[in-house]
Amino acid sequence: MQTAPPLSLAAEIQRLKKERDAVLLAHNYQIGEVQDVADFVGDSLALSQQAAKTSARVILFCGVHFMAETAALLAPDKTVLLPVLDAGCSLASTIEVMQLRAWKKAHPDALVVAYVNSTAEVKAESDYCCTSSNAVKVVESLPPDREILFVPDMYLGRFVREKTGRKILLWPGSCHVHYKMRDFDIERMKKDHPRAEFLVHPECGCLSSALRFADHIVSTGGMLRRVKESPSKEFLVATETGILHTMKKQCPEKNFIPISESAQCEFMKKITLENVLWSLQDMKHRVTVPPEVAEKARRAIDRMMAVPGV
Ligand code: SF4
Repeated sequence: MQTAPPLSLAAEIQRLKKERDAVLLAHNYQIGEVQDVADFVGDSLALSQQAAKTSARVILFCGVHFMAETAALLAPDKTVLLPVLDAGCSLASTIEVMQLRAWKKAHPDALVVAYVNSTAEVKAESDYCCTSSNAVKVVESLPPDREILFVPDMYLGRFVREKTGRKILLWPGSCHVHYKMRDFDIERMKKDHPRAEFLVHPECGCLSSALRFADHIVSTGGMLRRVKESPSKEFLVATETGILHTMKKQCPEKNFIPISESAQCEFMKKITLENVLWSLQDMKHRVTVPPEVAEKARRAIDRMMAVPGV
């Protein structure tokens, strides 16, 4: 009797997704193979919004831990799985909730704005959440006389401070991948590629020097929109290199040059087709948030979503 040939990993993942009633969400920084088996690929906000509205019973999150936590906050009745439990984030781990409490105590009248790259506990201690694409709008919506504590990304916070002129105190946190981009000779790259549009993520350590050259300082979602809409044929890209996979898929006729080939997040790259499959097979690793933390963290996210134009 003939036996059926074994399914490829990707086909087996698709089969199990149906069996488990799962939706697979993948961040733009995931490896290409994982992006290709996903139902949705996007930045952390777009994926959280997908998580909140999905009718699937299971959310398999291919990203890092704080993103899976955000999905669990917004979809409390779903099972949220992360294929690798130690897929952390160097930026989110720069601040512990106890440190934020102490900082708040020293500035009792300040409002806290937390970048979405933070733990659920830190979000729960914050007044507002924000993303890199809406941080300026969120801060502009706050009463002008209030001091603002911005956590955890100092580069994004500094960018927002320059844009809004508001009194913003910065937590000294940064993402190690974007931080290292400060070392690149942007001026030389611009000279070598004079017609390229230069897209910069606001988390980048190169931001202050890049400001002179950047055509667009945008989130990953904003970058993907820009390369589709722009008449330019060439782009210099300052963010994690995983995004180039989607850019090339969207616009195969255009040329994308990373500012740094080594700008790779090893936490994001921990997720592979194999561990996505194991995750679906064994229904692990489940990410949950205690209800009392979730309720407060959701309040900060809801306030962000209520800001006009966000
Ligand atoms: S690229 Fe940086 S901010 Fe994004 S998940 Fe990795 S460590 Fe965190």
